[in-house]
Amino acid sequence: MSRTVYVNGDYLPEEEAVVSVFDRGFLMADGVYEVTSVLGGKLIDFPGHSARLTRSLSELDMASPCSDEELLAIHRELVVRNGIEDGLIYMQVTRGNPGDRDFAFPDPKVTRPTLVLFTQSKPGLADSPAAKTGWKVISIEDIRWGRRDIKTTQLLYPSMGKMMAKKAGADDAWLIEDGMVTEGTSNNAYIVTGNRIVTRALSNDILHGITRAAVLRFAAEAQMQVEERSFTIEEAQAADEAFVTSASAFVMPVVEIDGTALGDGKPGPVATRLREIYLEESRKVAV
Ligand code: PLP
Repeated sequence: MSRTVYVNGDYLPEEEAVVSVFDRGFLMADGVYEVTSVLGGKLIDFPGHSARLTRSLSELDMASPCSDEELLAIHRELVVRNGIEDGLIYMQVTRGNPGDRDFAFPDPKVTRPTLVLFTQSKPGLADSPAAKTGWKVISIEDIRWGRRDIKTTQLLYPSMGKMMAKKAGADDAWLIEDGMVTEGTSNNAYIVTGNRIVTRALSNDILHGITRAAVLRFAAEAQMQVEERSFTIEEAQAADEAFVTSASAFVMPVVEIDGTALGDGKPGPVATRLREIYLEESRKVAV
């Protein structure tokens, strides 16, 4: 059955959901996005995702397509129309279609932003078998631009990183800049050494993960020690455990880095516990 997709005010069958070839999202990757997970028909961490979208738009001087309340209503409507129990909602805003190609931004009073949302049904999303075995990651150079805190649709390098990982028989790549891990291709990276959770501090070098914020809050509430600082791949390989966080993977244990197994090569207790806490607590406040 065809999905119902939202495009600029209309709910359309996916075959009819189209945007112009002159849209700046298509021509310039001049767009930002959010991915929100759905568990039990409810949105996880929606206020965080909507706040980050507002920030991404503002950093790029891009107009907001509608209010947060309207965005929430569209998310909910798509969940209902597509009968999503577990899955993801992808939302993208671009600088719109000025009717031609030009490096200069169009006048926002004339060219309205494009807003597109669609659902991805993923039954059993929270019971992913990968969470029981953990991910293998490789390290690659981080050659992305300098504003990784803005969630733009320029995803070619992260996508290439995923392919490099796949080719190497791994699940993902951790990106390295100046000898330090920045983050995963589409997730934030952590190591655990002697009961201390270490993750890179927030800056323009990494995306400010919504799952990261929630997980660090839950970790502190559970009296776990958190240290926000950079770490090397060598330190990660010698750590007791490692994991990544994202809206679609939640808390995913990492069991191997560049061919070196961590600990006994199985998901560690801290990552496993944080995954349980995150899923339990975020379901309670899902909307
Ligand atoms: N870092 C990058 C580069 C990402 O693309 C993502 C998610 O797509 C994350 C981190 C995790 O962010 P969040 O927890 O908000 O999904």
